[in-house]
Amino acid sequence: MATILLIEDERELARVLTSYLENAGHVVLYAARGDDGYMLWQQKKPDLVLLDLNLPGMDGLDVAKEIRRQAETPIIMVTARVEEIDKLIGLELGADDYVSKPFSPREVVARIKTVLRRSGSAQVKAQILRVSDLEIDLDGHLALRNGVSIELTPTEFNILVVLATQPGRVFSRMQLLQAVQPDAYAYEGYERTVDAHIKNLRHKLELNPKEPVYVETVFGVGYRFSKTG
Ligand code: CA
Repeated sequence: MATILLIEDERELARVLTSYLENAGHVVLYAARGDDGYMLWQQKKPDLVLLDLNLPGMDGLDVAKEIRRQAETPIIMVTARVEEIDKLIGLELGADDYVSKPFSPREVVARIKTVLRRSGSAQVKAQILRVSDLEIDLDGHLALRNGVSIELTPTEFNILVVLATQPGRVFSRMQLLQAVQPDAYAYEGYERTVDAHIKNLRHKLELNPKEPVYVETVFGVGYRFSKTG
């Protein structure tokens, strides 16, 4: 799990990539322009940048140079200009890898995994999980909404982390229970304790617990973290 900044002006391509990356468990930040993308990078400090070369606003090369001047954030360049690849990868620019268009989203996901593993940043930086206006500090066991900390029990916190790590994915009560209390899964009745934890979590998390915007109930199935928040 990592936060990936996708800077790509082809909307359809960006949409497909986003969905693949989210399915792989990543949090995706998106910008369609180079200058917007660079600003997002400054604000959010993602674990990796997936960067198109030809962009409106600010060229992909300039975005990469500017990022590299300030930080070690891994960069994967996306380009249709195959003849430029050598330059992109050189020390000169500091891109960590490239994919050439057209590519398969599956390939991109695999490349990202490799680059993250190589840089070791997934473990270090992904300790902070950001979804909509929530910030979840995995090391500090701390959840913040708009910068204000929310007091959660360890179980509530763990349920939140499981859900928020994969927004949109539906978890059954049993899956949530197994994730937070691995020893308890043998007891069917314990599934209902998940409902109690969710209820408490909502009371602390949601502005209106009766109309939850973060943790949604999927009737007959379980719970999911909202994609929109
Ligand atoms: Ca482009």
